[in-house]
Amino acid sequence: MVDVSTDLSLLHAETMRLRAEIQHHNYQYYVLDQPSIVDTAYDRLYRSLVELEQAHPELITPDSPTQRVGAKISGKFPPVIHKVPLFSLDNAFNREELEDFHQRVLKLSGREEVEYVVELKIDGLAISLSYENGAFQLGATRGDGSEGEDVTANLRTIRSLPLRLLPVEGKEIPTWLNPCGEVYMSKKAFAQLNHEQLAKEQKLFANPRNAAAGSLRQQDPAITASRKLDLFIYMGHLPPEIQLPTHSSLLAYFRDLGFPTSPHFKLCSSIDQVWEACQEWAQIGPELPFAIDGVVIKVNDLALQKELGFTSKFPRWAIAYKFPAEQALSRIQHISLQVGRTGAVTPVAELEPVFLAGSLVSRATLHNQEEIHRKDIRKGDVVVIQKAGEIIPEVVRSLPEKRNGQEESFVYPEVCPSCAQSLTPDPNGPIIRCLNESCPDRLKGKLQHFVSRNAMDIEGLGEALVAQLVDQGLVKDFADLFALNAEQLLSLERMGPKSTENLLAQLQTRLQAVPLERFLFGLGIRHVGKEASQLLVEHLGALDAIQRASLDEIQSIHGIGPQIAESTLQYFQSPATTQLLQKFSDLGLVFVLPAAKPEGLPLSGKSFVLTGTLAAMSRPEAGEWIEKWGGSVKGTISSKIDYVIVGDKAGSKLDKARKLGLTVLDEAAFLELMRGIT
Ligand code: NAD
Repeated sequence: MVDVSTDLSLLHAETMRLRAEIQHHNYQYYVLDQPSIVDTAYDRLYRSLVELEQAHPELITPDSPTQRVGAKISGKFPPVIHKVPLFSLDNAFNREELEDFHQRVLKLSGREEVEYVVELKIDGLAISLSYENGAFQLGATRGDGSEGEDVTANLRTIRSLPLRLLPVEGKEIPTWLNPCGEVYMSKKAFAQLNHEQLAKEQKLFANPRNAAAGSLRQQDPAITASRKLDLFIYMGHLPPEIQLPTHSSLLAYFRDLGFPTSPHFKLCSSIDQVWEACQEWAQIGPELPFAIDGVVIKVNDLALQKELGFTSKFPRWAIAYKFPAEQALSRIQHISLQVGRTGAVTPVAELEPVFLAGSLVSRATLHNQEEIHRKDIRKGDVVVIQKAGEIIPEVVRSLPEKRNGQEESFVYPEVCPSCAQSLTPDPNGPIIRCLNESCPDRLKGKLQHFVSRNAMDIEGLGEALVAQLVDQGLVKDFADLFALNAEQLLSLERMGPKSTENLLAQLQTRLQAVPLERFLFGLGIRHVGKEASQLLVEHLGALDAIQRASLDEIQSIHGIGPQIAESTLQYFQSPATTQLLQKFSDLGLVFVLPAAKPEGLPLSGKSFVLTGTLAAMSRPEAGEWIEKWGGSVKGTISSKIDYVIVGDKAGSKLDKARKLGLTVLDEAAFLELMRGIT
């Protein structure tokens, strides 16, 4: 067993590392309005720090990002000290955490029931406004919660912000008033702004939140005025002569005075109702004209809010429920078919471009025919798309209520869209395949796989270049890549002398020394992944030994099942393979065999499976680290696995690991393991 015991100095180092990383992202997000990671990844990092600090409170320092709201202000605007600090919100990511919040409220209040208001969590930036005798005086950003930036001149350009309060019948205008709310940019204004940025060849905004923040924090109010910002007020402070009983009455009061408040709010008398509202709004979120990143649950009774008070950072009477993955609405313009290297023909929705989780999305996978049928997705449909972690966008569902009768059901063609040969349903699943080995689209896919990072690792041979090489008939198999000359490459689009020289140099370097397991993996033999390629090389050695190996020999390798063995044998028995390998041999390709693994490293003999998304590093990075210290990384769960490292959104592998009773380490525990070794 590896010792995963905690060493305080190492824990301290890890805390510092997390803090530095979070501070960097805070600066990117709050000061520059240019986040470099998606919010869900940020939330995971933040969680890791919170959990570390909770387990070791002695590590908490007042300057930890967990103790402060927001980030330092940019210095571009005069500072404003908030009369009442602006708080952040604690987060819940699932029902259990909402229940915990509710139980805390019940316990602290001594009540058996509490009424909540559930509101949308508008994805914009918090501002605090100040009115005196009915006139707008000052407006500031939240900044670090205590001190914000004076953006009064810019706020004055927002049309929905009342410069003067409306008189309410029978009520005096308050002597002072301090409403707080969210400045946001509608999805429409955001899309328009990004199109303009695109036309001007200027940087695009990652999401409406950053666009709103960037627009409000402009030195020139005329630019802010052109950006179509909007506002919702969601709380505020009143002079003592105005006493209101509930948060909902406070919102009504602000509305009467002429402030925009969100029409979407619900009163809930139980946590079940709160959860229902969360689910409902997660569904309608993509259809709203503005972006939301969750809902906010607040105790309705203002006296109880006061009684519950605040922690150093959050109110105890409110919590934000964050939606799991970002979703957006788009329309399917048409459904195209993508032929992959294995011949799988995947339907792809070609969408009206839409911003989702920081990028412009115009294609999303529809997986297969069965999925299209099950979800009843048609050409012309308005659909919900989502991007979760590193996974490519997918179509979640269609909105049949938005149909106008022009939509067309999708009919799978009988022939391959690339080579026009008949398509064949896969006997083992819902996939339809093109079995033609020389299909041009399959060849493009195979070549891309062959040159990819985990295989031959040849940079500069991207999708567009591979497509040109195949379409021009310059490359008909992997070996042809190494026979390309400068003249041929220079004749292609976007290939200059420098890129040609670089590519030829890389190909030559690879030809002179290529790790055999990379080459094997690159060949794209069915079912033979990175791990199986390594096993074949480790156990059988040189390529000719692998070529000559019998089914029994291959199958006897631990970790290689009958399916892999069968397809390896078939591949090497095929005359096309013999021909290809002969071509490589004529080109003088030199294979490098792996050096024997050094014994006695901390992870020697230990096998790992990595699943889910890790926040602090990518899975390949984690795998490289494990291998560096003697461990091996496997792709499948079996009883022989020593550790299963789980990141976010781990799926069936985690279930299987639990069923087998394997040691499961979450990211924090894995980082601890790393610290114990490095
Ligand atoms: P928060 O998301 O934790 O919630 C508090 C904020 O919610 C308030 O300040 C207010 O602006 C807003 N809000 C919207 N509607 C509201 C309503 N109805 N009632 C009350 N508040 C409402 O805010 P935060 O502390 O500003 O930011 C933390 C979040 O920001 C993180 O969870 C992360 O998702 C994101 N973030 C991302 C990065 C990144 O690099 N991607 C960096 C920093 C922060």
